[in-house]
Amino acid sequence: MTAPRRRPFIAGNWKMHMTVPEARALVAGILESAPRPDEAELLLIPPFTALTEVAKLLQGTGVGLGGQDLFWEERGAFTGEVSGAMLRDAGCSHVLVGHSERRRLFGEDEDTVLKKTRAALKAGLRPIVCIGETLEERRAGGTIPRLDHQFDADLGGFTAEEMASVILAYEPVWAIGTGLTATPAQAGEAHAHIRRRFEEKYGNALAACAIILYGGSVKPANSYELYREKNIDGFLVGGASLEADSFIGIAREALRADREVK
Ligand code: PEP
Repeated sequence: MTAPRRRPFIAGNWKMHMTVPEARALVAGILESAPRPDEAELLLIPPFTALTEVAKLLQGTGVGLGGQDLFWEERGAFTGEVSGAMLRDAGCSHVLVGHSERRRLFGEDEDTVLKKTRAALKAGLRPIVCIGETLEERRAGGTIPRLDHQFDADLGGFTAEEMASVILAYEPVWAIGTGLTATPAQAGEAHAHIRRRFEEKYGNALAACAIILYGGSVKPANSYELYREKNIDGFLVGGASLEADSFIGIAREALRADREVK
């Protein structure tokens, strides 16, 4: 199946980094050399405390804003939690759901991910749902079964219309923050499988438009080769999104590959 041409989608997950003054400086650096919005879709995902300020700085630039997490309830006595409506209010269009750090460090299971994805869609946010295998699962030949299981359990019961808003990020757990990256062939195989899963469940047209990001130690030096894989539509970037040069370098390398092969 040939996916329609689309812009590289590059999202920067800042995790628990960046005070407001630091965020201001990073955004200024990114905007200074960002590709045009019609060339690449950029999304910044700061911590909650910097959202409002970053939203102001991004106004009119075409660069999007996302939250790192949300709670599934709309309001109430849930100390420390943030709802989808609050993220919208702060200027977000997207939200990460089920990042492996949330699953591993904060005990989020598939039911949690499903509820959060549903809440994001209800609030009008595009969820970026992260899935991926551990090193043990990969070594035991369990990568594809793991992806299938997560696809079904994290996203069970959504309509095709809802799924059209869902972005998937394939993030092999062993490649996140470790300096290890999936080879283009490994990532390409996982992405092709995820797109086939979309196709089996929701049909050709939706699968062709689905955005499937790769994440796991992406940097300017590996993003060109990864992006050449036809089912990789962009990147979810952690560490390398904390400096303007490396974040923009990744976007430019993806664009270079995009012009050559897609
Ligand atoms: C991430 O946090 O989603 C991620 C991919 O991190 P890193 O790029 O640092 O591996």
